[in-house]
Order: sequence, then structure tokens, then C-alpha cells
Amino acid sequence: MLEITNLHATVGGSENPKPILKGLTLTVPAGEIHAIMGPNGAGKSTLSNVLGGKPGYDVTEGSVTFNGQDLLALDPHERAAAGLFLGFQYPVEIPGVSNVQFLREALNSQRKARGEEPLSGGEFLKLAKDKAALLQMDMDMLKRQVNVGFSGGEKKRAEMVQMGILNPSFAVLDETDSGLDIDALRIVGAGINSIMRAPDKAVLLITHYQRLLDVVKPDKVSVLAGGRIVETGGPELALRLEAEGYDAVMA
Ligand code: ADP
Ligand code: MG
Ligand code: MG
Repeated sequence: MLEITNLHATVGGSENPKPILKGLTLTVPAGEIHAIMGPNGAGKSTLSNVLGGKPGYDVTEGSVTFNGQDLLALDPHERAAAGLFLGFQYPVEIPGVSNVQFLREALNSQRKARGEEPLSGGEFLKLAKDKAALLQMDMDMLKRQVNVGFSGGEKKRAEMVQMGILNPSFAVLDETDSGLDIDALRIVGAGINSIMRAPDKAVLLITHYQRLLDVVKPDKVSVLAGGRIVETGGPELALRLEAEGYDAVMA
């Protein structure tokens, strides 16, 4: 489903390019939840930003195909319309725009890009209600401005409501567990399972902690260090990293 081959990427623009990804190769087939772990500064968020097409990240070598398409040739909104979803480590606030407005606009612009009819207000509200319930959020919360005054946990739950509504085939989730208490972690983890655990979907789950992987059980675990994947294994690799640390495991 996602095939990343020898990916090299820089940040900082053409004036002052800083190489971050240095030959990253990773394949994620449909049906798989693939956890990415790795030390701070390894390039995990850079990978997620490059996959999303964020400006300021330049690919200098290598390729990424998504369902056989050249992902890097697509604009960010085309990537989203093709079924890619990015979850952010630090979700942004959008004062003056309610979650309901934002989510409906996001969904209908993707539907439009795919040549589908927009959902009516009623159809959309029903869908939003369903997905909000999955994340134990009520509609009053969705009527509030996007992320304004939301706690860390509420932001992540709202983001998972968005994922449920957009129903992507591939999600890249960057430290979705950061700032979550135990209850919110369970709710968000269960949401990820319910929305994304399917034979025709896949997830790249970037995390530092086993506690999320206790809820969202990965099929594979890879270690990203120094801009490359340096080790791949099963769920037991995450347990070893947690017990022994990156240095011991990568030595
Ligand atoms: P991780 O998510 O694995 O902690 P990042 O991908 O966020 O790592 O960062 C990798 C490296 O790239 C870090 O050294 C970071 O400081 C650097 N970096 C990331 N974004 C920028 C940027 N816009 N300008 C300069 N350096 C950056
Ligand atoms: Mg980091
Ligand atoms: Mg990061």
C-alpha cells in the first residue's frame, strides 16, 4: 500500500538545507499497523511531514508510492483525497471556525476531489455524531471552535473524530499518545482500532511508548534512527526497546 524507497529529505529550504532522512526504506502493506519508534530528533516527524507534503521539506532522492501512485507528485490536498490522513503531534487551533464547519468542509472538499457528491447537512451531522460517540465526545464539543481551549486529550480525540469522518485508507499518526492520560489513551487507542483496523487500510503509528501499543497492537515495529530504518521486528521489539533502551537494542 505504501512503499518508501531510499528516501532522502532535507529541511530548512534551498538556502540552508539540512539532511534529515538519509535513505529510509519501508513498506507497509494493507491490513498492517506498523509502529515507528526512535530517539528524539531521529526524523520521525520529518517523515510524517514529507508524506503529507508539508512545505519546507524537500525530497532530494528516493520515492514513495501509495497504492501504486507516485505520492510525492501529488499536492497535499490530492494526497488527502487519495486516502492519506496525517495526525499531528501538535494540533492547530482555528479560532472562529467550529469543529462541525471544519469537518464538513474537509469531508466535502475531499468528496469533491474524488468526484463524489457532497453530504447534506443532515447526513453530515449523523456521521459526525456517530464518530464523535466512538471517541466519547458530545456534539456540544464539536460545536466549539477547532481546538480552542481544548485540553491535550480533547484535541487528540477531536482529531480522531476527524479521522473517523474522513475515513482514510492510510493514516500516519505522529505521537498521538503525547499528553494523554490513561483514560484518554484507551479511548483514542480504541478509536484508532475501530476506524483503521481493516484489511484494506494501514497505519504508520509513530510513538515513544509501549502504553499506546498495548491498546493498538502493531503487526510490525521499526526503529528510525539517524534518518533511516535501522531495525524491524514484531511487537516484541517495542517491549525490548522499552526495557533496554535504544542504545542497547541498536548496538
Ligand atoms: P523526531 O520527530 O524523530 O523527534 P524530527 O523529524 O522532528 O525528529 O526532527 C529531526 C531533526 O530535524 C531534528 O534535529 C530537528 O531539529 C530538525 N528539524 C526538523 N524540522 C526542522 C526545520 N524546520 N528546520 C531545521 N531543522 C529542523
Ligand atoms: Mg520528537
Ligand atoms: Mg517528532
